[in-house]
Amino acid sequence: MPEIYYYSTNLKAPKATFAEALLKGLAPDGGLYMPERIPEFSKEEIAAFSQKPYHEIAAAVLSQFVGNSIPSVEIARMAREAYNFEVPLENVYGNKYIMRLDQGPTASFKDFAARLMGQLMQYFLQKEHRNMLILTATSGDTGSAMANAFYDLHNINIAVLFPETEVTPRQRKQMTTLHKNVQIIALDGKFDDCQALVKQAFNDNALGYLNLSSANSINIGRLIPQAVYYMYAYSRLCDITKGEQIVFSVPSGNFGDLMGGLLAMKMGLPVHKFVVSTNKNDEVPVYFASGNYKTIVPSRNCISSAMNVGHPSNMARIVALYGGVMDENGTIAQKPGLENMKRDMFATSIDDTATRETIKRVYDRHKVLLEPHGAVGWEGLRQYLSENPGEADRVCVSLETAHPAKFPEEIQAILGFDPELPPSLSNLEGKEEKYDKLAFDYKQFKQYLVNKYK
Ligand SMILES: *Cc1c(COP(=O)(O)O)cnc(C)c1O
Repeated sequence: MPEIYYYSTNLKAPKATFAEALLKGLAPDGGLYMPERIPEFSKEEIAAFSQKPYHEIAAAVLSQFVGNSIPSVEIARMAREAYNFEVPLENVYGNKYIMRLDQGPTASFKDFAARLMGQLMQYFLQKEHRNMLILTATSGDTGSAMANAFYDLHNINIAVLFPETEVTPRQRKQMTTLHKNVQIIALDGKFDDCQALVKQAFNDNALGYLNLSSANSINIGRLIPQAVYYMYAYSRLCDITKGEQIVFSVPSGNFGDLMGGLLAMKMGLPVHKFVVSTNKNDEVPVYFASGNYKTIVPSRNCISSAMNVGHPSNMARIVALYGGVMDENGTIAQKPGLENMKRDMFATSIDDTATRETIKRVYDRHKVLLEPHGAVGWEGLRQYLSENPGEADRVCVSLETAHPAKFPEEIQAILGFDPELPPSLSNLEGKEEKYDKLAFDYKQFKQYLVNKYK
């Protein structure tokens, strides 16, 4: 397979191989890595996905991007180990579906990206006889997805800092009951303080020997796995030999999920339209409508809290995909083809009132339980269909990105009952918790890392 190189969206860094881009994360010029060319599947290859389990589709997608750097048996093994859970397509009515991406170990769609990235990093670190320490700050959900994804891998340790009083007991237990190579630190401080300590550690040359990495959401290793579930949904619901096209609605915050979908489309998946559903952080819907991109600072608080993002980092990649250049601050140096973007995407912003009404209406009418993020997606799809009556018969899939049981207060207030816990969350009770406590003090934090990781 011909090698694909990765360039930086800021265009000022050398090209990287897949392994380099994966282990670096951010390009040295502050840009995001993008594949230099996007591989395409033939119609026959896409048609064949209908007979394959999820993990085999994942392996097929991944092998397109890693060239010869990983043998195919290894790719197959990684995908099998990463995706050992269900991906239900729940019918709502007619040919309209919810894709539940909430069946992984932390009941969040972030499991899809984090688990394969963990496997990939382990592979290259083992091959190069290197170790890496993943250092990450969390306000709750990302930390647990990362800790679970890296749990029990070789050549990788992970340390997660969380603000002691700002996460729920369940969020905490999702991290603190793992042990082994997972170190959890409760900080006497706020989420911003956790981030500040992590940032300082990354800039501290004296800690260079620890080979720190953030493995954060902009890593190319997290992006590629997010193309797979679009391929999967299409393969189960549509027939490419009949020329069928599909619509996806994507509840979006940092736009990694959407970027995965756009990759799948560029790889040949017949997507008619992406509905880009945001909460009141509506910088992208405003951009599509006005042609002016303006970040929202500070970001607006909405109940779909994982989408409270005033400047999505993956916008730089989306702009690049449409021929433009955007830097990490959101400044556009070269305009992308806005008309082409609007041909492929319909963007809309959904407020909290509409989000809550959607949870109530969808449950009352269809007995389908959504949580706030998935409800933003579903309401965006409803708006798209009502503005485009010719689309009524189209196969449509709205993504549900978290399990409703992660939002018991909201569901209780709207529907009057507590959602049932999935096994991944109910199994936490009774497991032993282990974590360390630190004050907000860099010296102390540094000493802690030095002692722990000799
Ligand atoms: C992270 C997250 C999102 C947003 O995904 P992006 O890729 O950042 O757009 C949506 N829903 C949930 C539950 C999330 O955790």
